[in-house]
Amino acid sequence: MIVVAATQNKHKIAEIDAIMKPFGYKVISRAEAGVPDIEIEEDGDTFEENSLKKAMEIHKLCGEITIADDSGLMVDILDGAPGVHSSRFAGEEGNDEKNNQKLLKLLSNIPIEQRTAKFVSVITMVFSVDRVVVARGECKGHILFEPRGENGFGYDPLFVPDGYDKSFGELSSEEKNKISHRAMALQALEKQLRSLNL
Ligand code: IMP
Repeated sequence: MIVVAATQNKHKIAEIDAIMKPFGYKVISRAEAGVPDIEIEEDGDTFEENSLKKAMEIHKLCGEITIADDSGLMVDILDGAPGVHSSRFAGEEGNDEKNNQKLLKLLSNIPIEQRTAKFVSVITMVFSVDRVVVARGECKGHILFEPRGENGFGYDPLFVPDGYDKSFGELSSEEKNKISHRAMALQALEKQLRSLNL
């Protein structure tokens, strides 16, 4: 069976496909499914709302089973910011450099023990309008005083996961994918699919 991914990110699609394969699903992109390339506004207050909105809109357009993820960084001392605004924290959609600079500035006087944060990922699978599975994953850590490492994207160079002394920007993608928020959400999704016998 086909599952259409709301994301256009090939890497995320491959990650999701690997998890879904044992259940007999093949994950394809929106483009492969012939879904019009519409912009879906991520205007929810929670990752859950945005993730559901993306999966449901694509489902309504193609009628297939769909899957979407919404993710971001939550910093404790900033009351969970940037949160759902992670990709446009400094005003420009997807400008990682500016987002990281803004985060460092806001935390400039904050000591290491108060720089705790977590990455969150919420994955939603829509089977039909009234049949939805939601899975959440988190990865806890802290924010550095300056960027380290060239790997990954977004806030990766500033985030050190608990139990490690390297940032996500310094870890290999294999290492990151074992412990990341997205990996945890996919594991939770896998568990739910198993218990639902899907
Ligand atoms: P989206 O879920 O693809 O919309 O991602 C939202 C934003 O959260 C990204 O643009 C990044 O700024 C941030 N983000 C989400 N996941 C990660 C990650 O694994 N590393 C670094 N930044 C991330």
